[in-house]
Amino acid sequence: MRKTIIAGNWKMYKTIPEAIELSNGLKRELFKLDKDAIEIVLCPAYTALSEVAEVVLESNIQLGAQDMYWQDEGAFTGEVSPKMLNDIGCAFVIIGHSERRLYFNETNETVNKKVKAALSAGIKPIMCVGETLAQRENNETFKVIDDHILNGLKDINATEALNIVIAYEPVWAIGTGKTATPLQAQEVHQYIRNLLVKVFDRDTADAMRIQYGGSVKPDNIIELMNQPDVDGALVGGASLKIDSFSDLVKKANQVRKK
Ligand code: PEP
Repeated sequence: MRKTIIAGNWKMYKTIPEAIELSNGLKRELFKLDKDAIEIVLCPAYTALSEVAEVVLESNIQLGAQDMYWQDEGAFTGEVSPKMLNDIGCAFVIIGHSERRLYFNETNETVNKKVKAALSAGIKPIMCVGETLAQRENNETFKVIDDHILNGLKDINATEALNIVIAYEPVWAIGTGKTATPLQAQEVHQYIRNLLVKVFDRDTADAMRIQYGGSVKPDNIIELMNQPDVDGALVGGASLKIDSFSDLVKKANQVRKK
């Protein structure tokens, strides 16, 4: 059975005191959840990683970053390396978020380099894939998924793949309040899983987690989690408040898959 994974992407929100308050509140609300049943990941901005790391130390909450560069060190002004994320205690890193693809020239090639670098550093990549509204309306959803998955996972073997989480995030549903229906999400998740069978093998594909992302909230998480190929969620807006994120995580934890 795949372990549920819920990650909060705090994007460019929260000062250090705000991040400490939010992570402390979540720790208080969620401490009873069994980490063998559900993984909870917080992805603050770089500036707050260190403080949040301290708050969640020895708790059932893990730390993630929102991006990283693929080199361990060098003259790359403004970048943060896998070695640095390791140093600070990151277990996960989001790679290829649509906002990075859209505003910061992230390409499948750079996503692939970052995924490989994260794996080499022992950090689990959450690799984001998904179509824009125009692409969906042009019936290009599966073509975009092929492109993101096949190129993002290029030259990665099945053993490594077990440490990768895929996040299916339809761009039209991110921060818009529009969620894919559970059936729309399941259709693409199932497509991704079948693609993973072709790239790796059936056992690997069955073991890999695929999160859904795009306006996930406490009131839609259960129906999304009830879909057979939805293994968790990558959450933006609803992860910024103690009440909404803890409620959402608790609800996801109630859904037990066969
Ligand atoms: C995201 O940032 O990955 C995201 C899905 O955002 P939101 O939940 O706000 O749509």
